[in-house]
Amino acid sequence: MMNYRISKRAAALAPSLTLAIDSKAKQMKAEGQDVVGFGAGEPDFDTPQHIKDAAVKALAEGFTKYTPSAGIPELRQAIADKFKRENGLSYKPSQIIVSCGGKHSCYNVVMATCQEGDEVIIPAPYWLSYPEMVKLAGATPVITQTSDRTEFKVTPDQLRQAITPRTRLFLLNSPSNPTGTVYSPAEIKALGDVCVEKGVLIMSDEIYEQLLYDGAVHKSVASMSPAHFEHTIVVHGFAKAWSMTGWRLGFLAAPEPVAKAIDAIQSHSTSNATSFAQKGAVAALNGPQDHLKGWLAEYDRRRTYAWKKLSSIPRISCVNSRGAFYLFPNISQTGLKSTDFCAKLLEQEKVAAVPGVAFGADDYIRISYATSMANIEKGMERIERFVKQLR
Ligand code: PLP
Repeated sequence: MMNYRISKRAAALAPSLTLAIDSKAKQMKAEGQDVVGFGAGEPDFDTPQHIKDAAVKALAEGFTKYTPSAGIPELRQAIADKFKRENGLSYKPSQIIVSCGGKHSCYNVVMATCQEGDEVIIPAPYWLSYPEMVKLAGATPVITQTSDRTEFKVTPDQLRQAITPRTRLFLLNSPSNPTGTVYSPAEIKALGDVCVEKGVLIMSDEIYEQLLYDGAVHKSVASMSPAHFEHTIVVHGFAKAWSMTGWRLGFLAAPEPVAKAIDAIQSHSTSNATSFAQKGAVAALNGPQDHLKGWLAEYDRRRTYAWKKLSSIPRISCVNSRGAFYLFPNISQTGLKSTDFCAKLLEQEKVAAVPGVAFGADDYIRISYATSMANIEKGMERIERFVKQLR
């Protein structure tokens, strides 16, 4: 018998807790049951037409071959221009790497900068792939816990206490998945100050940059000072603000030696992101951004409704989100932990939400409002009924 020994690296990965609920919800839907899905991590809007047109044109013109591993020059330039125009950051195109999704960009950063013996500080609640990426690199995730009492924000003191001589990287994600928290520019600067003082690199995942509400402001930690710039790798992608999740396109901007290392890793793993998709991405960055206004108004309407409704349910409390498209209500007063809560909610009321334990926070569940208002209204009624019958 063949021994299919799985590598320690792969065996150490946590199975996706979200998948069990997700596949159950899909199965129920396929059986014709009326399931309300709050699990989606993707916009429910279509990719804007001019972006699709650019990719279709590229295909028609035969732009179907390998490109440079780090991306076509035109796109790397468009990304450098975006950073200059919108973030006040001056990168050379050689510092920009285009990858197969923001997730791939994050993975490349961790792979290029972390190794055995290194520690990576990850504030919880975190995006669920971060700790697994760190483990894949052979490094150790160090989780700093936050809660709704501080709007899920890690403080400079907390960060300072978590830093050891082994700390290599600090993972910052604002606006945040799963909480929707947006750090103020002053808070971002203060966290960056600690990293600069201690010589810790920052991976700043800014993929939800454009999705802001209630006057929240996004400012990249890289833009705080030349020293902050030197300590930061910015990760971004096309999935959220241009609704291009299936296109698999992300990008990052890094100090030259890190960008070079990432280029080498990518050239031996995935090579370039899809050629004609990159042409679509050029159109996304250089073309009109009008679609965002309508999307943001709609997200905001749903967010306000869902937050008010959740806050009115006895034993549920919810910090309002200021960014992305998630709410992260606290369910601890119901007496249930998150997996149990979500499993029962799906079973009894046919509402799919993601248990907070997947994000390192078992007292919460994640609700995505990237779904129609009709779904949100129906789903909120059901959550209310579900919580009221719990004792
Ligand atoms: N970073 C965060 C915080 C995310 O929530 C996501 C997607 O959900 C990503 C990165 C990666 O997105 P993609 O790989 O689809 O570009």
